[in-house]
Amino acid sequence: MRIQVLTIFPELFERFLQASLVGKAIEKGVLQVSVRDLRDFAPDRHRTVDDVPYGGGGGMVMVAPVWLRAVRALAGEARPWRVLLSPQGRRLDDARVRELAGRGDLLLLCGRYEGLDERVRELVVDEEVSIGDYVLSGGELPAMVLIEAVSREVPGVVQLADSVTRDSFRSGLLDHPHYTRPPEVEGLRVPEVLLSGDHAAIERWRELAALEATRRKRPDLLGQARLSPAQRRELDRLGAAAGAGGVAGSRDS
Ligand code: SAM
Repeated sequence: MRIQVLTIFPELFERFLQASLVGKAIEKGVLQVSVRDLRDFAPDRHRTVDDVPYGGGGGMVMVAPVWLRAVRALAGEARPWRVLLSPQGRRLDDARVRELAGRGDLLLLCGRYEGLDERVRELVVDEEVSIGDYVLSGGELPAMVLIEAVSREVPGVVQLADSVTRDSFRSGLLDHPHYTRPPEVEGLRVPEVLLSGDHAAIERWRELAALEATRRKRPDLLGQARLSPAQRRELDRLGAAAGAGGVAGSRDS
């Protein structure tokens, strides 16, 4: 997987690209990330990338010619899929992450100020992606979110492929709760079944716990989830139990 980034703050990516799974993936060569300073493509010696908006008003706008030059210079032999990070884009979710990972070659455009001159989007952007309905000061953090999410889809980045498929959203449900040592923390014990060594029982518990976590925290997901008849029955039972005074182990705090 190859990801190129265009930004006026390349230094923000330095530590991020060295750490954790992304750093290891880059080291192993399964992920290539290169970050380019947009200012390198500015024609003047002040490396200007912004100008005042037509029509007046506050804030600066990133100028189109610099972006166009940069994006076209980074096209390479195989044209990357060009993604503009923008609060106006489609909101990122698990399905979108997988789709973007499937593209294999991405160019991420990080805006600043009031954003890019609209003509950049019209001329060279394939897709706008938002990481949520709120406005950040720049596209760098959204680009890092995208890089980290997409990199988890690259074979060999997450050691146990199983842990990716079990992650929240993949099956349409949230992940089940996780526990590690010690077995008791401030009076709260690990569910006994997890200490039993009975793998079939542990699997059943995990399925049920994922269902319960989703019902309690994100009931909106249940409408879309592909559930088996047994899971549907289990949900009805959980709903009835909650209505009758709560399900054991479903503390909210
Ligand atoms: N004036 C723009 C608007 O209201 O749509 C916001 C510009 S924002 C201050 C500057 C840059 O931050 C954007 O060009 C974009 O690259 C990035 N950005 C801000 N919020 C974002 C979000 N939720 N998702 C993705 N990118 C975002």
